[in-house]
Amino acid sequence: MKVLIVYAHPEPTSLNGALRDVAVHELEAQGHEVRVSDLYAMNWKAGIDHADFPPLGPDQRLQVAPASAQAFASNTLTADVKAEQDKLVWADVLILQFPLWWFSMPAILKGWVDRVYAFGFAYGVGEQSERRWGDRYGEGKLAGKRAMLLVTTGGWEEHYSARGINGPIDDLLFPINHGILFYPGYTVLPPFVSYRVDRLDEAGFLAVSSRLRERMKTIETTPPIPYRRQNFGDYVIPTMQLRPEFGSPGAAGFSIHRSETA
Ligand code: FAD
Repeated sequence: MKVLIVYAHPEPTSLNGALRDVAVHELEAQGHEVRVSDLYAMNWKAGIDHADFPPLGPDQRLQVAPASAQAFASNTLTADVKAEQDKLVWADVLILQFPLWWFSMPAILKGWVDRVYAFGFAYGVGEQSERRWGDRYGEGKLAGKRAMLLVTTGGWEEHYSARGINGPIDDLLFPINHGILFYPGYTVLPPFVSYRVDRLDEAGFLAVSSRLRERMKTIETTPPIPYRRQNFGDYVIPTMQLRPEFGSPGAAGFSIHRSETA
């Protein structure tokens, strides 16, 4: 398989840098072809602005979604964005790797999503009608491909448990897993999370590396998170609410968007 790792850490000798190398070596040992987008090394421009839409004059008002749609349709997105889109189309598997910063991804990676996920590419795709609400949440340009997160945290695993002070990790990662990966069609694998890493010693590193190698070995077969697909009867169109007959009575929150059967 072809695997793209989009990696966001400013320090090459960091723990994240070492874990990226572990992942790359194991994937290559399994016969996969791997490419890495190292966002800091690429000096990736994180902020979306006028410069992203060359046909737009400097005095013209920028409305990001229409400008994005027009630039995607006319093939005038900037070369750095087009190169990343080509990598996404190339890859069978996408891995987003980052340290958890303020309960989310580093700004540079969020900026990669903002700019690379153009209108017509990752959103604004497909028929919008009484029967369908576009190709999204399980359908879209990136359908048929797998994706997963590779995350490190300073906080303890217990802090991210069901009753932990930080909130459950699956809830914190839901906007990324469901909103950024599932939305344009990816089949989303459970995240690989290493907790409490800030004072990791050599033994701890070996344990995390070994766990990571196992996940890389099974990347083709790991069962995905069973998110419900949008246009297959689970949701009322156009309100996009889960039908009352699905999920246990009174249930609400992120977890209702996972079906019991994948
Ligand atoms: P590094 O600092 O590079 O290394 C961590 C430890 O691993 C070091 O002790 C290092 O010696 C050791 N290590 C062991 N083996 C190796 C090896 N082979 N190579 C390299 N290092 C090794 N945490 C949360 O839980 N929630 C948050 O919301 C959160 N927000 C944050 C916001 C900011 C702005 C910052 C800076 C940190 C935040 N953190 C948070 C903590 C953060 O998630 C961790 O600091 C980060 O995940 C550690 O990863 P790293 O790659 O930067 O580790």
